[in-house]
Amino acid sequence: MLTLEEALKLPAQALEEYKHELTQEVLKKPELNAYIRPPKSSGAGVPILIKDNINVQGWEITCASQILQGYIAPYNATAIERLHQHGMCAFGLGNMDEFAMGSTSESSCYGPSKNPKDTNHVPGGSSGGCASAVAGGVAIAALGSDTGGSIRQPASYCGCVGLKPTYGRVSRYGLVAYSSSLDQIGPITQNVRDSALLLDAISGHDSKDSTSVALEPSQTFKHLNPKARVRVGVLYESLKDASPEVQEAYWHCAQVLEKMGHTLVPQSMGDHKHHIAAYYILSTAEASSNLARFDGVRYGRRVEGRDLKELYIKTRSQGFGAEVKRRIMLGNFVLSSGYYEAYYLKALKARAHIVHEYKKLFESADVILAPVAPSSAPKFNAHASPLEMYLSDIYTVGVNLAGLPAISLPVAYHGNLPIGMQLIGRTFEEQSILDVAYGLEEVLELKG
Ligand code: GLN
Repeated sequence: MLTLEEALKLPAQALEEYKHELTQEVLKKPELNAYIRPPKSSGAGVPILIKDNINVQGWEITCASQILQGYIAPYNATAIERLHQHGMCAFGLGNMDEFAMGSTSESSCYGPSKNPKDTNHVPGGSSGGCASAVAGGVAIAALGSDTGGSIRQPASYCGCVGLKPTYGRVSRYGLVAYSSSLDQIGPITQNVRDSALLLDAISGHDSKDSTSVALEPSQTFKHLNPKARVRVGVLYESLKDASPEVQEAYWHCAQVLEKMGHTLVPQSMGDHKHHIAAYYILSTAEASSNLARFDGVRYGRRVEGRDLKELYIKTRSQGFGAEVKRRIMLGNFVLSSGYYEAYYLKALKARAHIVHEYKKLFESADVILAPVAPSSAPKFNAHASPLEMYLSDIYTVGVNLAGLPAISLPVAYHGNLPIGMQLIGRTFEEQSILDVAYGLEEVLELKG
């Protein structure tokens, strides 16, 4: 598989031939179920796989849900426009958890994607199709979305690189909203350099997204400095929720960073459990409101009823899957009068506290080393309850609540399954985490 860096150097004719070959490869690996349909291309340029929740004009975009069957995107997401401006194009749609709600890709209406390292195991979620395709040799690179870990965790499970940018770095215009105060689009790639190249292309201010931030327009991440040496915050106490192999991988990674000349700064963040509680209250509250628009009138699938109310009820009951319904009900509950203060407001306060906790950590460290998930990729149907699945997001959701950038890269293997670690940075300091990750990748030699 060509890297993104190599593909960007190919002449146009060779690239089109390559796309043809890639299509054949995709069709040869249906067992991964990574692509939703045979791939098509949004134009000329290097093919990038797009998660099924990012609008590509004229394509059927469904968020892997029954309710959006037949919905044709009327416009391009800004991230897609930017791909076109930088010699790339959308190429196929990546399978995902329905409406990006999940950590395994099992809630897709198209059936789950598989982990290319062992197809008995999940690829992670919710951008599971994208990570499976990139690590499985059927996509050069992909765009995913990360609301509570959905880029970093599948990258960790499949053995590729996933970057969640600072909130506001990449326009959300054209990304189907799950939880608007947390969602970010970001790259899933074979290596760190490609991650920087793709981030370069998609980031920047966009007047169509009022939360996108206007920074230096000429900023670029591609001048990676593997020699940069920084203070790395290590959170040994927080490891208690991780499996022995993840703990071992963490220690190993910390030692490698120290040997490379980084300074390890032992830090403490206390219990991460309140991250999960705050995240699942705020994200479901926002989701219940965002998903109210899928009513059978304006988008996708409609189930007729005797009157408008019955049309709404039938469309939503038949169109949404079980996990999405659970989140909508949870979200409505925490927002309902009498519970609003006890749950939603309290979660907002917890969020402010988490922002403060990270700020304090960044007084003595430049980047923070953290696990991505408590284990390597579990088998299918391994979570005994939805709550158990939610708890597996313990290491990723805090980053979204605080709006920070974080990159996940493979650092070890447990049998044939990869284990990723994340490097978390200060807001808008993607360059630091990319530099450290680039140096680490060179030393570890575990690319893609
Ligand atoms: N697993 C988390 C959830 O289900 C994160 C999902 C995401 O980042 N889109 O909400």
